[in-house]
Amino acid sequence: MARLGEFEIIERFFRRPTDDSVIVGIGDDAAVVAATGPLAIAVDMLVAGTHFPPGLPGHAVGHRALAVNLSDLAAVGARPRWATMALSLPETDPAWLEDFASGFHRLAQRFDIALIGGDTTRGPMTVTVQLIGDAAAATPLRSGGRVGDTVFVSGTLGDSAAGLGRLVAGEGAASADQAALIERFAYPTPRVALGAALAGIAHAVIDISDGLLADLGHILEHSRCGATLELSALPLSQELLASHSIDEARALALNGGDDYELCFCVAAADRERVLAAAEAAETRVTAIGELTADGKLTGRLDGTTRTLEARGFRHF
Ligand code: ADP
Ligand code: MG
Repeated sequence: MARLGEFEIIERFFRRPTDDSVIVGIGDDAAVVAATGPLAIAVDMLVAGTHFPPGLPGHAVGHRALAVNLSDLAAVGARPRWATMALSLPETDPAWLEDFASGFHRLAQRFDIALIGGDTTRGPMTVTVQLIGDAAAATPLRSGGRVGDTVFVSGTLGDSAAGLGRLVAGEGAASADQAALIERFAYPTPRVALGAALAGIAHAVIDISDGLLADLGHILEHSRCGATLELSALPLSQELLASHSIDEARALALNGGDDYELCFCVAAADRERVLAAAEAAETRVTAIGELTADGKLTGRLDGTTRTLEARGFRHF
């Protein structure tokens, strides 16, 4: 296997043409960009073996590394513009790098994002991407939820956790449905357009990375309220239901991580505006519950109510 040097890697796989907003890009000590106003900045680290199985194809690793940051900027309604990348690799395998870079650049192109710098070093496989974008005129915060708000989620929940389960068990896909679940883990769809549209409407928004209950729990904590969820309303995909019982599917939807969907709270009077925004963003949204004054997180199903416990991904 041919070994590549650091600068060859940067030139071959990471330097791409950029637009006029990039005054100094890859190749100097620091990048310089022309910002037009307040900036939103997020950084997320993907560690092989912690955040993704070590055997995940490079293309998917490149996609995910950017997608998880896009999801964070989506939650604050920002328009993503510039990225930096810190890459630690045990070896310089050109085929893997080619695959990784094409996964990253494909998604970057779709959202018009310029890669403007980074760092490349030898070490355990870790990909850290920082994303910078134009902040929304009004940034929805985790603390903005109000009692009586309707709680919505985008897309469907639980697919990614089911797909990851198969990958980790070394059980590949035995059907098209299972392949679709694995795809949801490997290639999450960040809800950038929806997030931008919600910025003027939603009181609070969070992206679901650690699981619905864990992430909604952050909104509840910061907004100092509780929530009641209609468990029969949780959006579940056909692909998930094809290989899981309804109870398993709901458990994955509540506590499985890696969905990268948005969970948001809006005044009940704004429900129509949300539906219009979702249609414009071509993204499915579902009302799943309401914020309450009692400080508890409860689920209702078939006329009974129970306390819901977050068992989301814990980093420590
Ligand atoms: P320095 O030693 O000044 O920190 P480096 O030698 O680490 O710079 O990197 C050279 C140039 O390549 C810099 O402009 C840096 O931002 C860029 N760069 C390094 N690694 C990456 C990467 N993985 N993706 C994008 N740009 C990178
Ligand atoms: Mg330097």
